[in-house]
Amino acid sequence: MNIEIVNTGSELMLGRVLNTHQQWLCRRLADLGHVVTRQVAIADDGRKIQGAVAEALARADLVITTGGLGPTSDDLTRELIAELLGKKLIENTNVRAHIENFFAKRNRARPAKTSVENFVPEGALVFLNQNGTAPGLAMKLEPNLFRADKKSSWLVMLPGPPRELRPMFDDAVAPLLKRAFAAEIFICRTLRTTGIGESRVQELVESDLQPFVKRGLEIGYCARPGAVDVRLTASGTAAEKLVRAGEAVVQKILGENIFGFDDDEIENVVVKLLAQNKKTLALAESCTGGLMANRITDVPGASEVFIGGVVSYANSAKEKFLGVRAESLAAHGAVSEVVAREMAAGAREKFGSDFALAVTGIAGPGGGAADKPVGTVFIALASAHGVEVKKILNVWERATFRPVTATQALEWLRQTLSA
Ligand code: ATP
Repeated sequence: MNIEIVNTGSELMLGRVLNTHQQWLCRRLADLGHVVTRQVAIADDGRKIQGAVAEALARADLVITTGGLGPTSDDLTRELIAELLGKKLIENTNVRAHIENFFAKRNRARPAKTSVENFVPEGALVFLNQNGTAPGLAMKLEPNLFRADKKSSWLVMLPGPPRELRPMFDDAVAPLLKRAFAAEIFICRTLRTTGIGESRVQELVESDLQPFVKRGLEIGYCARPGAVDVRLTASGTAAEKLVRAGEAVVQKILGENIFGFDDDEIENVVVKLLAQNKKTLALAESCTGGLMANRITDVPGASEVFIGGVVSYANSAKEKFLGVRAESLAAHGAVSEVVAREMAAGAREKFGSDFALAVTGIAGPGGGAADKPVGTVFIALASAHGVEVKKILNVWERATFRPVTATQALEWLRQTLSA
C-alpha cells in the first residue's frame, strides 16, 4: 500500500515550526501496519498545494494532508482540494452547530470568518474537531482519476494544530483506516544503546544479522546525542519471528550497552529501577546545569525517587550547598576528581539519598587547559558503598556536550542499578 503525506504551511518552509506531524503520523501509521511511502512539505501556495496533492494522488492509495483547514487567508487546503477534485463546497449543518457550540461554551462570539469552516466538499466524511473548530475531512475517490490504473484512493485532510490533529487521527482516522485497508503485519523494535558510536554498533552487529536480513529483516541505525538506536523491522507473516531473532542477536552482542527499547529514555529506566529497588537519588550538577534534574523530573512518578539537586556552577555554590572544601577547589580546581567526589558525597549527605550523581566538567568553548582540555568531565556516583569517580573526555560542541554528559552519568546509575 502506498501512503503519502502532504504537510502544508509556509511556517514549515521558513523553519518557524518543526514538522512534527510528519514524524507523529508516520509513527502512528507504522503502528497500524502501514509504512508511509513519501512525504512532502509545501508552502501555503495554492497552485503548489494542488500540484502536490495531485501528484500524490497519482501514486498513492492513501493521501493525508495536514494544515490549511482554518479560517484565515493562508488556510487554503479545503478550497483548493475541492477545486482540484471538481467538488462543490456545501454547508454542513453538523459542523456549523459544532462550531457554534464551541464558541458558546467558551462564552465567545463566533468570528464571522469561521463560517468558511462550515463548508465541506460534497460527499466528504466529516470529523468534528473536539479540540478546535475546523473539521477533518476524508473522501474516497472511486475511481481515482489521477491514477493511471484508476483504482480508488482515500484522501484525508487534517487540521494543522497538533492538539487538534492527534486526537482526530486516533479517534476518527485510525478506525477509518482499519475499515478501509487490510493492514499488513508490520513489526518494529528499537533497541536503544549508549556508550558506543554508530559505526562501531553497525560493525558489531551487521554480519550476525545478515542471515535474517536475507529473509526480510531490515536494520536501521539512528545516532542521537549519547545514544545509538538499532531499529529492526519486518513485514508479513514471518515478521514477528524475524524481529525477535534479530533482537536476540543484538542483545547478545551489545548486551550491557542496551539501556532500553522503543520509547524508553535512560531517565525513564533509571526512575523505574530506583522505584523497583526503593532507592532515592540526589544530584549535584555543574556543567550540565540542571539538565539531569530536568530529565529525571520529566518522568511521571519521579517524585517517588528524586529528592533534589543542586546546580552548583560557581565554586562558592559547591562549597556552600554541597560542602565541597575550599582547599580541594584551590588545590585541584573545580573540574577534578576530588571535587566531583566531594560534590557527590555532599549531595548524598545533604539530601539524605541512597544515590547521588555529581558532574563537573569543561563544556567549552573556553576554559580548557593543557592538562584539562575542553570536554574534560568528572562524573561521581555516591552510594552506600562509597564514592566512585570516572574521568571522561567528551569532545563535542557545548550543545551536544551537555546532553551527552547527562546521559553518561544517568547511564552509570542505570548500570549500577541493573547489576
Ligand atoms: P488553524 O485553524 O489553527 O488555522 P489549520 O488547519 O489551518 O488550523 P495551520 O494554520 O496550517 O492549520 O496550522 C496551525 C498551527 O498548527 C501552526 O501555526 C503550527 O503551530 C501548527 N502546525 C501546522 N502544521 C504543523 C506541522 N506539520 N507540525 C507541527 N505543527 C504544525
